[in-house]
Amino acid sequence: RSKSDGRGALRLFVPSMERELIRRRDLELELKRALAQDELTVYYQPQFSVSGEVVVGFEALVRWIHPVQGLISPGEFIPVAEQTGLITELDMWVLRRACAQARDWGEVKLAVNLSPVDFRSHDLAGSVAAILRETGFPPQRLEIEITENLLFGNHAEAFAALSALRSTGIRIALDDFGSGYSSLGYIRRFRVDTIKIDRSFTQNISQSDDAAAIIDCVVRLARALAITVTAEGVETRDQLRYLQSVGCHYVQGFLLASPVPFSSIDRYLERAKRPDSARHPRLVN
Ligand code: C2E
Ligand code: MG
Ligand code: MG
Ligand code: MG
Repeated sequence: RSKSDGRGALRLFVPSMERELIRRRDLELELKRALAQDELTVYYQPQFSVSGEVVVGFEALVRWIHPVQGLISPGEFIPVAEQTGLITELDMWVLRRACAQARDWGEVKLAVNLSPVDFRSHDLAGSVAAILRETGFPPQRLEIEITENLLFGNHAEAFAALSALRSTGIRIALDDFGSGYSSLGYIRRFRVDTIKIDRSFTQNISQSDDAAAIIDCVVRLARALAITVTAEGVETRDQLRYLQSVGCHYVQGFLLASPVPFSSIDRYLERAKRPDSARHPRLVN
């Protein structure tokens, strides 16, 4: 490039940003198309009683099977969907599909992730209720997973939407607990039913006394408040043993099961029928 090109210097550092912007815009257009053309699908990750023996529920996790790029992870496209306003349509699509697919799975719970952005949409609770009616899915079996950011943001709005959801019998789980800004105050105020301990704690159980102590403390506190605790990201037997020793209720992670497509769900449903005392944590508190 010649020195007379005034943009030369700028171009030294702009290309990567430019590429990123273009990639985002492409991703946005592609995502719109994906929603319209049914390229999205839902995987389900089983959640187990802390014994590791009984399946108590499934978390719905969206997947994008791109015709050229193959499987794209939600970590890549959820942020784009959130920035472009596509997220609520996407989340409602996932909710509808998951409720329809999981309706006849027996008594197991279905957990579905919602974005904080969804709570700004008009009448979220009404949309959710309509999907439950449409699919015939019982609200008592549905758990909505929200993140701490929601509680940290616009309190009044979020609180109203959460209350409306809860009043229909839907349960609320606080996802990735400990990774953000939430405080014990939020937990009480928003009356969450479940805390999901962030996997960064689970994965440090054996390496860090602090992580282990924090988990112990969170479980005690949750139990005192009659809140259920699920540990995310359980990958080793040592982690599972520790979670058992501190009285965590439920566990989720690659050690027990990875997210699987709808077509592979049957073998886990077999394991959902066994009786287990940990299945009704309120009674064993
Ligand atoms: P999340 O809700 O915390 O979901 C758990 C994530 O951890 C999933 O990643 C899951 O595959 C992964 N995971 C499960 N067990 C293990 C383990 O033992 N080790 C490790 N390293 N990871 C494990 P995934 O499916 O890639 O989803 C990432 C995030 O994207 C989710 O985190 C959630 O925040 C978001 N997400 C997924 N589906 C949806 C959706 O339908 N709507 C919205 N709004 N967000 C979604
Ligand atoms: Mg989740
Ligand atoms: Mg999580
Ligand atoms: Mg997450």
